[in-house]
Amino acid sequence: MDLMQNITSLCKRRGFVFASSEIYGGFSAVYDMGPYGVELANNIKNAWWKAMVQEREDIVGLDSAIFMHPKIWEASGHVGGFSDPLTECKKCHSRLRVDHLLEDVNIFADEKMTEKEINELFDTHKSKIKCPNCAKSDWTKVKKFNLLVKANLGNFTEDWNKDPVYLRGETCQGIYVNYLNVLNSSRAQIPFGIAQIGKAFRNEITARQFIFRTREFEQMEMQYFCSPDQEMQEYEKLRQARWQYYLNLGIAEKNLKWHKHENLVFYAKQAYDIEYNFPFGFKELEGIHARSDYDLTQHSKFSGVALDYTDLKTKEKYIPHIIESSVGVGRTMLAVLTEAYKEEKAEGGETRIVLKFPAKLAPIKAAIFPLLANKPELVEKAKAIFNELKKDFMVEFDDSGNIGKRYRRQDEIGTPLCVTIDFDTLTDDTVTLRDRDTMKQERVKTIDLKNVLQEKLK
Ligand code: ATP
Repeated sequence: MDLMQNITSLCKRRGFVFASSEIYGGFSAVYDMGPYGVELANNIKNAWWKAMVQEREDIVGLDSAIFMHPKIWEASGHVGGFSDPLTECKKCHSRLRVDHLLEDVNIFADEKMTEKEINELFDTHKSKIKCPNCAKSDWTKVKKFNLLVKANLGNFTEDWNKDPVYLRGETCQGIYVNYLNVLNSSRAQIPFGIAQIGKAFRNEITARQFIFRTREFEQMEMQYFCSPDQEMQEYEKLRQARWQYYLNLGIAEKNLKWHKHENLVFYAKQAYDIEYNFPFGFKELEGIHARSDYDLTQHSKFSGVALDYTDLKTKEKYIPHIIESSVGVGRTMLAVLTEAYKEEKAEGGETRIVLKFPAKLAPIKAAIFPLLANKPELVEKAKAIFNELKKDFMVEFDDSGNIGKRYRRQDEIGTPLCVTIDFDTLTDDTVTLRDRDTMKQERVKTIDLKNVLQEKLK
């Protein structure tokens, strides 16, 4: 079975993810969330926010704007150095990332390499690298391509390139430049963190692998400010917390792996990625980095504003060191979908496709069916139950097609529970509750339904 193909097609068929601008022929590496996709994404964001903000006394939230002063991207190093090395296959004109091509033959390029250096490295190995699309091995020279996306916000001249502003390439810069605001407006004391969820934009060269790598995407980032001697201890704590977070999200531990960065950027103290076993192999899901005092030092230098912190007890003065956790919503969604996707042999030899989401991530918690759609008394009773439950749960009413088809549809969108209203309901006020995973059915009193659902969805 081609798992990636099956997930992609289910996402479209059932309304999780659509290619952007499809009726216009599509728009490369941009995707839209359909009705169930937006629910799943919101549930993922809520789980992240709960773990990173709600359950932490030492972390607060932020929602900074997408547009910022362009100098921020100079200070961060993005204008000068945020680039990927690009080569083109001379045969089929596929554009590919040289670091990824090298990785496939176990050569790991250093992020900091100049264009000349990466050309030299690629020249040494390129004869054994085949184009993944046409299998030829004929490459153009490597060019470094800046990933920042430019915009003309506030530019009323004809010259598009004059004083560009940028759509943010990562959300964390908005956190760094608000560090002082948060500190001064709250009672925060180091160590403390700031968390943010928001859109980021990158001119990604390779636009494959569905929602794994897109040009517009959403990040969930937490930046934790600490003293120089706390940094590595807090870093280890963060690594453990993030690993546990994925287990709590229902990801099997065998599908997670640590990847330690060998070629660290000059300021980084330590960098690990959590990789997930995607249908195309283990790839980065989240980055967890110890960044030293680099970010605030840069912003202090470029803005001219002092960003140091004075410890209330020791009176020690320093620029806070930062450790970060950074993950994409789309990438988490793909991991969660991969983990949940199951094909099972059902009775009669049919294949049952089911998304076994943990209940907290399921887009729809329960579906409510009248057994027969052409019996008004059943429809009316089912509607009444639905109207009651919708106050507390994301539920769906369905009276289309036969009951088997309705179950199949709910299995494919990962609904944990189905409630069927039949003729017995009208006399004894009980309903049938069907479990997605075991397919077992039980009778439940209508009056207890809310509590039973609450219990089962825990
Ligand atoms: P990669 O090496 O895969 O390009 P990166 O190391 O540049 O990723 P970071 O800048 O560390 O990624 O971004 C942090 C997280 O944001 C990543 O782990 C990933 O989950 C997410 N992310 C980054 N780029 C994209 C993208 N183009 N599409 C979707 N998610 C992304």
